[in-house]
Amino acid sequence: MKKVNIAIDGPAGAGKSTIAKAISKELGIIYLDTGAMYRAVALKAINEGIDTLDKSRLAQMVEAIDIKISCTENEQKIFLDGVEISQKIRTPAISIGASNVAVVPAVRMKMVELQRSIAAENSVVMDGRDIGTYVLPEADIKIFLTASVDERARRRYIEQIQKGITDITLEEVKRDIEYRDKNDSSRDFAPLRKAEDAIEIDTTSMALEEVVEKILLICKG
Ligand code: C5P
Repeated sequence: MKKVNIAIDGPAGAGKSTIAKAISKELGIIYLDTGAMYRAVALKAINEGIDTLDKSRLAQMVEAIDIKISCTENEQKIFLDGVEISQKIRTPAISIGASNVAVVPAVRMKMVELQRSIAAENSVVMDGRDIGTYVLPEADIKIFLTASVDERARRRYIEQIQKGITDITLEEVKRDIEYRDKNDSSRDFAPLRKAEDAIEIDTTSMALEEVVEKILLICKG
């Protein structure tokens, strides 16, 4: 099979990871969740007492960061300095921290290098914010997923509750999402943006299975 790169971008809660996982499984190719990398950087900063808004210390910190990813169809494990952190990075505080560190060009350059090297050697479904516009501008298929902010907050809230994170309200989740939307779309370097040649799908009132079906049809051409 010819190598294929599929870029799936969009804001938090649009359904990217669930959809990208299902597509990778269906096509038998790997799935790479690039958000996990920015989350790993945020975790390291927090562990080292570095403010996630302190751009110069973050730039220095990532020079020697050790992030490794093992990805297969439908599953990704992420390691920071040799320790698996796949679950630990899924908290509201790390979500905000990730959005903050993702503004720093030196952080992005480092993560993008890793993302491109994985895509160069594998067929991959990659989800993120800048995959179609910056990381893989030559991707074979580009999808941009959106949904209303209320629906995205509702999905994230249910996800958090299912994970056992109960000390958060729907309002707080919505506020965090709005903060990240603004931060992610207004940064200077590789902001969250639909690529000109991406196909936009509004998932607000769609079942995720329907979205997967639609993207698979696009993939089959
Ligand atoms: O996708 P996820 O919600 O895990 O991403 C966490 C944060 O990482 C996002 O809010 C965004 O700021 C950043 N990110 C990014 N570029 C990507 C993926 C994630 O800036 N390709």
